Amino acid sequence: MDLTFASFSEISEAVKLKKVSAQEVAKHFQTRITTLNPTLNAFTTVNEEALKDAAATDVRIAKGEDVGPLAGVPFGIKEMLCTKNLKTTACSKILSNFVPPYDATVVARLKKSGVTVMGKLNQDEFAMGSSNETSYYGAVKNPWDVTRVPGGSSGGSAAAQSARLVAGAIGTDTGGSIRQPASFCGVVGVKPTYGRISRYGIIAFASSLDQAGPMVSSVKDAALTLEVISGHDPMDSTSSQKVVPAWSKNLSADMKGLKVGVIKEYLNSGVDADTEKTFNGALEALKKMGAEVVEVSVSMSEFAVPIYYLIATSEASSNLARYDGIRYGYRADFPSLSGVELENFYGKTRGEGFGSEVKRRIMLGTYCLSSGYYDAYYNKAGQVRRMLTEQYLAAFKSCDVILSPVTASPAFKVGELISDPLTMYLNDIFTTSTNLAGLPGMSVPFGLSSQGLPIGVQVTANHFDEQHMLNVGFALESVSPVKGSKPHVI
Ligand code: GLN
Repeated sequence: MDLTFASFSEISEAVKLKKVSAQEVAKHFQTRITTLNPTLNAFTTVNEEALKDAAATDVRIAKGEDVGPLAGVPFGIKEMLCTKNLKTTACSKILSNFVPPYDATVVARLKKSGVTVMGKLNQDEFAMGSSNETSYYGAVKNPWDVTRVPGGSSGGSAAAQSARLVAGAIGTDTGGSIRQPASFCGVVGVKPTYGRISRYGIIAFASSLDQAGPMVSSVKDAALTLEVISGHDPMDSTSSQKVVPAWSKNLSADMKGLKVGVIKEYLNSGVDADTEKTFNGALEALKKMGAEVVEVSVSMSEFAVPIYYLIATSEASSNLARYDGIRYGYRADFPSLSGVELENFYGKTRGEGFGSEVKRRIMLGTYCLSSGYYDAYYNKAGQVRRMLTEQYLAAFKSCDVILSPVTASPAFKVGELISDPLTMYLNDIFTTSTNLAGLPGMSVPFGLSSQGLPIGVQVTANHFDEQHMLNVGFALESVSPVKGSKPHVI
């Protein structure tokens, strides 16, 4: 078995049958991290205990214990998720010394299912960005072209997965941070329905939008990961009580009779030629497999980016208020605290601890929430969000899934947009509405640009209908023209 490209089932079956030990698997990927990470900067912290953790899985197998469905599968975890005794920084200076005393529910469930945690993956600071350039630990490079960004904010997860420094990765998605980097790096990325996965132990950016999800090499691996990490958690009251279906077992590429919606307002929206070709190719492929294409209208999607940037920054300004240098995290250096005004204490600590994109968002959000503007901005955004959601629900009365591009163009150059926040924000044009409406969405690799850069297509489904979404992803994957293509770095 070629461990580098092995699927989750191949790895876990081999580990359970003792054809290879979990420790050998971990060692294989550890070597890849050592060799390739200096080029990619995808890992921020390597778990020094990984081999020991894997050995513990082997001991349990030797004793005949049931070690779970992902036995010995090496995973990388985005910096947003708390990992017990392993540094968790959100890639911010303000949390650069934080070692959590507990695991996020997602991490705890992954460990319970047998995975080996290989370390933490780079991201934009507090997941704010679309290029992974706002990280305190520096930019991540796209394995398909190291002069380009991997996308963001889960850029480390996308790059690590694409170059196979891990067998699986976890990202978070507030406005596209799983799907956009997945598209830029040619991996499968899934943002489940809001409430499907517990947010307990995930550093909060915008609580009404945040969800974690898999960034992996196949739709089946995505389904297997989702089965493990989904489900109610008493520690997160927004996590749903709904039963978690056996998505991986029910995967079907049978598209006969399936209705695929195309959003009318997205047509002629100025995507580049390669992206358009990829999207049309996916649509044609689904038709050939028996699906019917219908036009739907979600006219409020035009306002998705402005609503998103009002709501996300408002929630962020509130969530990030806790980083005050007193309870935990970075504290500015004061020779003595006596006589220091509280306001100056906060000002210096937060001024030094946060990067400029995070500060911009805190200021925007605080402004939106301030008295006199609250109704005009925050409340109004909430109302439009509600209308957007209702339009989606109406659209799903006439289709099972919606197909769209993930971004308007493939990966851009490192440095190209970092000083142009507005253009950077517009990168989220096709992804934010999914979060605002709480719907599940995924990116599946389906094309390569003329410059050899990956392009994904986005599949969105109705609330808690991940099965339809995954099935369409599975069908597309089975006929994807880019199946088996690999990044240059490996
Ligand atoms: N690019 C978006 C932003 O900067 C999305 C981020 C995310 O999903 N975490 O807010």
